Amino acid sequence: MSRHDCYTCGAPGAMQAFKGRSLSVSFKQLTRMVHSLAGHECTACAEIEFDAPSAERYARAGDELIEDAKRVMADEMKRIRRKLHFTQKSAVQLLSGGGHNAFSRYERAEVEPPKPLFVLMRLLDRHPELAQELQVINACDDINALLLQKEQQRLGEN
Ligand SMILES: [Zn+2]
Repeated sequence: MSRHDCYTCGAPGAMQAFKGRSLSVSFKQLTRMVHSLAGHECTACAEIEFDAPSAERYARAGDELIEDAKRVMADEMKRIRRKLHFTQKSAVQLLSGGGHNAFSRYERAEVEPPKPLFVLMRLLDRHPELAQELQVINACDDINALLLQKEQQRLGEN
């Protein structure tokens, strides 16, 4: 059984072989398990050093998770937009602002949607009736009323 010193903490002969271990890879809140991993683990500091095939599988699982997660988020953006009967253009006007092709880029997984937008889309997926409020919210009558108050306060002070 090969035992060697830990490269991280330097504990002598502390690296102990393991195999058949399952560990997770994660990206944001998303996780996926990788099974049957083998390598060495430090009994002093818990540093893990995978064998070459396990290191490759673990790294590939991480890359695949990121790729799959981006694709799934992009597909969700498209599915929910269509469910709400928005064009990409109206979705930009009502929801995201930014460039006219912002939604097109999110839906092609070219850019990840900002978290507040992704959360908003998922809320609207659960409560699509709230989409009716978007025209009124975007018209900003309530905010304009608040601005008017501010203006009157200022005039009152002078
Ligand atoms: Zn160590």
